[in-house]
Amino acid sequence: MNYPDILLHIDGQWRPALAGSTLPVVNPANGEVIGQLAKADQADLDAALAAAERGFQTWRRTPAFERYKTLRKAAVLLRERAEGIARLMTLEQGKPLAEARAETLGAADTIDWLAEEGRRSYGRIIPARAAGVEQKVIREPVGPVAAFTPWNFPINQVVRKLTAALATGCSIIVKAPEETPASPAELVRAFVDAGVPNGVIGLVYGDPGQISSYLIPHPVIRKVTFTGSTGVGKQLAALAGQHMKRVTMELGGHAPALVFADADLDEAAKLLVASKFRNAGQVCISPTRMLVERSVYEAFAERFVAHAKTLKVGDGLAEGTQMGPLANDRRAPALRKLIEDAKSKGATELLASDVPKGPGYFFGPTVLGNMTPDMAAMNEEPFGPLALLMPFDTLEQALAEANRLPYGLASYAFTTSTRTAQALSDGIEAGMLTINHMGLGLPEVPFGGVQDSGYGSEGGTEAIEAYLNTKLVTQRG
Ligand code: NAD
Repeated sequence: MNYPDILLHIDGQWRPALAGSTLPVVNPANGEVIGQLAKADQADLDAALAAAERGFQTWRRTPAFERYKTLRKAAVLLRERAEGIARLMTLEQGKPLAEARAETLGAADTIDWLAEEGRRSYGRIIPARAAGVEQKVIREPVGPVAAFTPWNFPINQVVRKLTAALATGCSIIVKAPEETPASPAELVRAFVDAGVPNGVIGLVYGDPGQISSYLIPHPVIRKVTFTGSTGVGKQLAALAGQHMKRVTMELGGHAPALVFADADLDEAAKLLVASKFRNAGQVCISPTRMLVERSVYEAFAERFVAHAKTLKVGDGLAEGTQMGPLANDRRAPALRKLIEDAKSKGATELLASDVPKGPGYFFGPTVLGNMTPDMAAMNEEPFGPLALLMPFDTLEQALAEANRLPYGLASYAFTTSTRTAQALSDGIEAGMLTINHMGLGLPEVPFGGVQDSGYGSEGGTEAIEAYLNTKLVTQRG
């Protein structure tokens, strides 16, 4: 299959970088270079900023209903093109084709929902204290947005930012991931082909640090949104703070999954394995610390390992593949370090990574048991196919371990006790908790974290709020 060379999109034009610079794109399933992408420098960014400023003036005046119709058209185009786009995503990112297809079609659902929600950016009238006075609250688009997105979900990470910005009347410059550039470019193409005016969407790639340090302080940019690691998120939030820019941060996690003795163990093991090893574990909401009530610990571990063993690892384009390679060559050494550290401190390797030697960044499902909080893996986000099992004795102990880390993004629980479920709902310190099923990440529900996992939400009505300013107009007579 052909992989296209990737261009920037600035002021309605698909074009190379002004200086002609490029970066290679690699297929993680075999380590081969499959294409080149245009690498923006400051002159390209200046052009994108000027276009975003003009685009904002056009788009904010476009009636909400017109914006809605254009966005819905983009969703239609995305669905029509989903098969080709999914193949590009698998080639550049490695995930199985079925996951890439689901991500692309899911993005169309996200567009539909956010487009609809954009039509409901209601203001309000507040009853006044004096006769003849009107107090009117208006919601206005925040302005041109700078968005920075990572490589693990090349389309999903962009679509939530891009559509929420467009639905509210903002323009946006997306710095999409250099490692997986083709599928987000196709997402942008769907919006452009649907009729989004020139300048409203900019798409750039390059040196992430150079681009963020130029765009975030720039006076044209009014809002910053980033998905990625906590360390980088803190740097970008600090920079945005210096320039008083609105910010959404969707950062790392280290999700606890609490399994109680009264749970359906088969179901819990099956769902947690599917969720843990989806996208080879390179997911911010991936369940990582399986905290299991001691009386069912062995029984759960046995079921969990049995399910994990059946996963077929291979090239994401090959028929039947359930887990692809890691997206880049950085994760495997990091995972090996975490595993060695845990084993040296007494962890049991219940399932070792087992992949044939050869090209590509493959790492098999790995399960460690008898974990303890002093092990590095219990504290650092593995961001790979590594599951950690640890027994607990009481609900209080389980909650204390779940809340021990500074992260607070996703959390999972399996219990048939409504009392336990209520205690978790009250006691878990996280942005999201799903009990007895995998219910996170739908367009209509909030998506975001607390503490080191960031702030702001990329789902539900909150996703729209993030791109709106509030203005009070009060008038007499
Ligand atoms: P990294 O910290 O180098 O980069 C993470 C992301 O941030 C990448 O997309 C990168 O392009 C971007 N980035 C890095 N420096 C930047 C800067 N100065 N300005 C703007 N963007 C910048 O790590 P990595 O090796 O690419 O990924 C591994 C780690 O990143 C994982 O441990 C995980 O915590 C985190 N991550 C999180 C998510 C998520 O969905 N929250 C996605 C991808 C990566």
